[in-house]
Amino acid sequence: MKTICFLTILLPLLANSQAPTERDRLFEQEVEKMFPALVEVRRDIHRHPELSNEEVRTSGLVAEKLKNLGLEVKTGVAKHGVVALLKGATAGPCVAVRADMDALPIKELRSTPYRSENPGVMHACGHDVHTACALGLAELLSKHKNWVKGSVKFLFQPAEEAMPATFQGDWGAKLMVAEGAMDNPRPVAVFGLHTTALVQPAGTIDDGMHYLKAGQIGYTPGVDNANSDRFHITIHGKMAHGSAPHKGVDAIAVAGEAIMALQMIKSRQTNTRQPLVISIGTISGGQRENIIAEKVEMGGTVRTYDANFRDRVIEQMHRILKGITEAHGASYEMDYRKTYPSIINNAELVNATLPAFRRLFGASNVKELIPGMGGEDFSFFAQVCPGFYFRLGVANEEKGYVHGGHTPLYDCDEEALKTGVLALAAAVCDRLAAGQ
Ligand SMILES: [Zn+2]
Ligand SMILES: [Zn+2]
Repeated sequence: MKTICFLTILLPLLANSQAPTERDRLFEQEVEKMFPALVEVRRDIHRHPELSNEEVRTSGLVAEKLKNLGLEVKTGVAKHGVVALLKGATAGPCVAVRADMDALPIKELRSTPYRSENPGVMHACGHDVHTACALGLAELLSKHKNWVKGSVKFLFQPAEEAMPATFQGDWGAKLMVAEGAMDNPRPVAVFGLHTTALVQPAGTIDDGMHYLKAGQIGYTPGVDNANSDRFHITIHGKMAHGSAPHKGVDAIAVAGEAIMALQMIKSRQTNTRQPLVISIGTISGGQRENIIAEKVEMGGTVRTYDANFRDRVIEQMHRILKGITEAHGASYEMDYRKTYPSIINNAELVNATLPAFRRLFGASNVKELIPGMGGEDFSFFAQVCPGFYFRLGVANEEKGYVHGGHTPLYDCDEEALKTGVLALAAAVCDRLAAGQ
């Protein structure tokens, strides 16, 4: 009898918690009205992609739109970054939202009306979508300040994709933090989203990649991605005639042995339960077919989750390179750069945000994901305050949006712009409503 009474009370409550709230309905209607303009902004940014630290037009467009909405706008942060503050109707904490703005050196292969007009440069990582979503959020919340119980700081970031080989010193998120973007006011939470357009190939086993369709959101409750580092190795040998290799030290042969041995770190020298990727992406050396190569240069990336484990891997790389080069009378140098720390989502913040996502998009469209081995400098913001970096599905098989990021056919189902704005708005308003 008691159980029945308990269920009669609990079940309607549970059902009710899934029902849209007044705010959900209002924001959905508003975002529906804003949709054509959101698409236009996204396409404008897509047509005019700019490489890392060259985001002059994009940041100008962003700053102008934010000023027109009446926000306090600061430009020139970390070169072309824009920081803006939206004050709500009532006093309260500050919550930050980050959107990255830069594009990639890829030639776009799609022939859409909004195809890149900057030859060889393309928004192939969805940063056009991220920027459009954050601008949409600024517009939505500017119109409905009564739902903003505090302030919202917008972090429009340059140079997320920048390479350490091309930039000395700091850049992107790290430089924005160093220049005070997270101070005055200091946010109590920071949110960011990233598009994912991958579709699981038919008949394959789910390999844990981020397969999300437009209308879906993905998240991890803790570690989200990897410490992402880059290294450059030079192997020095001794030049000789190709017909007399014993007179020299063949840097190419030594490099070949070193590459194989570096892979042994993952397969034989570390605990298999500790995630690790060591990839060599570039190699060059030698002058001619009949000359023993004097020098080989290789570039690569190391991905880990644990910072101490990463230090051990670096030591192991040095040990292998030292041992192999010495054994053959060669020598080496390694320039290893710790680039982006791993993003660790704040579990409390994630759990407090998920109910709104489930209400808005349906529980089956809010998916827990396996952490990836990608790198992202959102982590520098999430080191200042609790952070939640989630994935926005943009794939749509019927429309042909099935190509992953950093490829020349990448594109997204623009319906996802609505999901992105609604998700950010719910995350921000809920966190502000929770107070300090
Ligand atoms: Zn990217
Ligand atoms: Zn990206």
